[in-house]
Amino acid sequence: MRSVCLLFLLIGATLAACHAEDGPVKPSLTLQGTITHAQNHHYVRVPFQVPAGVYRITVVFHYTGKDEHTTLDLGIFDPQRFRGASGGNKARFTISETDATPSYLPGPVIAGRWVLLIAVPNIRPAVISHYQADIFFDRKPEIESFSDGPLRPNPGWYRGDLHMHTAHSDGSCPSQSGSQVPCPVFVTAEAAVRRGLDFIAITDHNTTSQYEALRELQPYFDRLLFIPGREITTFQGHANLFGTTRFLDYRVGTAAVPDMNTVALEAHRLGAIISINHPNAPTGEVCLGCGWKPQPPVDLHLFSAIEAVNGGAMRGPYSGVSYWEDQLARGYRITGIGGSDNHHGDWPVSHPDSVGSPTTVVYAQNLSVPSILDGIRAGHVFIDLTGSRNRMLEMSAAANNGPVSIMGDALRAPADSQMSITVHVAGCAGSTLKISVDSPNHLAFPSRIIAQDEETLHFTWSSDGKRHWLLPQVNMAAGDLELLGNPIYVNYPAIHPKREE
Ligand SMILES: [Zn+2]
Ligand SMILES: [Zn+2]
Repeated sequence: MRSVCLLFLLIGATLAACHAEDGPVKPSLTLQGTITHAQNHHYVRVPFQVPAGVYRITVVFHYTGKDEHTTLDLGIFDPQRFRGASGGNKARFTISETDATPSYLPGPVIAGRWVLLIAVPNIRPAVISHYQADIFFDRKPEIESFSDGPLRPNPGWYRGDLHMHTAHSDGSCPSQSGSQVPCPVFVTAEAAVRRGLDFIAITDHNTTSQYEALRELQPYFDRLLFIPGREITTFQGHANLFGTTRFLDYRVGTAAVPDMNTVALEAHRLGAIISINHPNAPTGEVCLGCGWKPQPPVDLHLFSAIEAVNGGAMRGPYSGVSYWEDQLARGYRITGIGGSDNHHGDWPVSHPDSVGSPTTVVYAQNLSVPSILDGIRAGHVFIDLTGSRNRMLEMSAAANNGPVSIMGDALRAPADSQMSITVHVAGCAGSTLKISVDSPNHLAFPSRIIAQDEETLHFTWSSDGKRHWLLPQVNMAAGDLELLGNPIYVNYPAIHPKREE
């Protein structure tokens, strides 16, 4: 920890500037001072220095004397220009290259002398107001959010859609007069609310312009978490990036980005996660680069997830489920997720390709961007192809009454140990539960018809001490896939499995 405090005088205000490099919780800089009646109807300039390499600046402002009708209004200037003003209506604001709190202007955070402008509309004679501005500089890349904290604090299963498009790429919907126009982000957000979703990732192609809209909408949609997302769209395939607003160079095949592995490594450097999209989609003049054909082939250890179920190909030859299962069979431990790939936010829930069809359901410690992404990384996920609000698929297992693992976890089961497996299914009466082992064609147990709307089933499985993956799924009576889980990985290394060629 390093801290330097400087005291100086400026226009009658005593300021203390404290610089600390000890993590995101403590401010990088604190500006303090006093305002008296002598400054009534004046503008108080509070300069401060922004170092090089800052991506985002956040200001939190407090002052005393409100009960005596003191009012202090805020504005801010960078070294070159005005960057916004919020009067007395925002005690906290943030500015970055891509997005800013409404009232403020996004753009690069330029190094140099910035000025916090405190306008004083009212302070009574004899009143002294003490103010403090805590200023945070984000430099190192990390998971980013549009909310200040979790939207819900409790652990649980959260439902979301991880793939959709708006006006910021090729999403469209009817205008007031009925023309198809670029569709505003809030239309997609409202579709997610109609579906009853807890989180969404708007994944417009390659651009970062959608984040400004999401920054504005998040406080209004305070039950719907927005995950910063983007569809990295290349000539060799598409991949969704989650958790960062920072630019990522998508120009695969150029000197700067020779191959898809470079994209994945850059995603990791930005603290984000990356997922392969619609891997079995065909490439052609209808959809350029839609198929997954990276040259050279990627190192799949760099990818956290595969979009096994894409709304445009829920079933049939273009479904990504077989591609995902092939990678599981090759020994990769990689999470299967879903995404609607919706391009028409206005479509009603009844439309087969509307927002939330399919829904990805994630077990997370709370409803926040870091926790949802942690849940995806961990494979604590099932896909609801019906986009319901209530269907559930949970599987847990323990060997010889040892620690309990859930979908996505590794489980140690020595040879001849007995694994007890519990599956909880809800909302699927009349459907069939299958648990496959190592291949979709090899069932660990005979299929079971689910009789009740809420049912818990128990199985016992003998381990041979070797490596296996056990994957649950539920099929409707007619055979269509309804719910798809993630594997429990038996006798895999706890964290990163070795590649099996
Ligand atoms: Zn795509
Ligand atoms: Zn897409």
